[in-house]
Amino acid sequence: MSFGIDDLPVRDELRGKSPYGAPQLDVPVRLNTNENPYPLPEALVERITERVREAARSLNRYPDRDAVELRTELANYLTKTGGYRVGVENVWAANGSNEVIQQLLQAFGGPGRSAIGFEPSYSMHALIARGTGTGWISGPRNEDFSIDLPAAERWIAENKPDVVFITTPNNPTGNAVPPGTVLALYEAAQAARASQGSASMVIVDEAYIEFSHGDSLLPLLEGRPNLVVSRTMSKAFGAAGLRLGYLAAHPAVVDAVQLVRLPYHLSAVTQATALAALEHTDTLLGYVEQLKSERDRLVGELRALGCEVVESDANFVQFGRFENSHTAWQAILDRGVLVRDNGIPGWLRVSAGTPEENDAFLDAVRELKKEQS
Ligand code: PMP
Repeated sequence: MSFGIDDLPVRDELRGKSPYGAPQLDVPVRLNTNENPYPLPEALVERITERVREAARSLNRYPDRDAVELRTELANYLTKTGGYRVGVENVWAANGSNEVIQQLLQAFGGPGRSAIGFEPSYSMHALIARGTGTGWISGPRNEDFSIDLPAAERWIAENKPDVVFITTPNNPTGNAVPPGTVLALYEAAQAARASQGSASMVIVDEAYIEFSHGDSLLPLLEGRPNLVVSRTMSKAFGAAGLRLGYLAAHPAVVDAVQLVRLPYHLSAVTQATALAALEHTDTLLGYVEQLKSERDRLVGELRALGCEVVESDANFVQFGRFENSHTAWQAILDRGVLVRDNGIPGWLRVSAGTPEENDAFLDAVRELKKEQS
């Protein structure tokens, strides 16, 4: 018998678990991981090359540990687009928003503490909770995937979580959470912990906010030191391969995550590349506009094909319902299009691609529907 993971003294809560990851299959049309389908424009590739060449000359030294130039430019981007002024002291950056979330849970979660999310939602929240020894509470949603506010408030009051996750627009369902709901959950979380003589952190995951019909919740940071807005360059900036996520919050939150971050966690190459991408913000946000209109087209055409579709504020669309979503996933894959089966019975998720990719996807669904009728 070969030696395996179970023969190692791994932590009990990791036994029998699988690593997170969507299949990376080699098919013509890949619409399964909410990536931006547009490669970076050539002028930006040139600028990255220049910036990285410059950074390479000092790779014998550790990078700027506090990533001050990058955080300043991220703060400028948020101030310009988010309807709220933030400065370098409000912003923190890490290798993808997954790492931002991990650092937040290392600082505010941990053994003996708990976090709640309203599911189905981004499954890494629960997995990062597990990895950091934070208890996980799976809160409820309505049938239409909106947050059931009275039920959510009850769960928060009963469980008194140390951390509350609100993903807006939500992944995998695509719907946005109204600002009033976020405010109510923030109040509920603070009230619940106040009875313990402490407070709760509320993390608003805005990974897809640039695709939304509505506005960022950044202005809610005013006067709310326990609120954190988390962002990423993986989606709107078309830079999933870069691994750059960031947060905006009260400066005290930035001080707290610095207690758990590894020193020099953001390489000089990462910082140089992200700075180059931020110089091209306007061009990249132009692609976002194209993707938003393709997303709206997907919603309309899927409905015309007789699918149920969740209203989407993201760069992807949750559609159904299928008697067997895995069979439908396979039928679409057999036609060369990879979408995502998130294990929500009856539903699949498709990321908005280029117009040609979306046409290929819609053709596949059309054929599938014809077969089923
Ligand atoms: N939050 C949400 C809601 C996501 O869907 C994702 C990526 N799929 C992330 C965070 C993490 O993104 P990244 O680590 O690439 O910034």
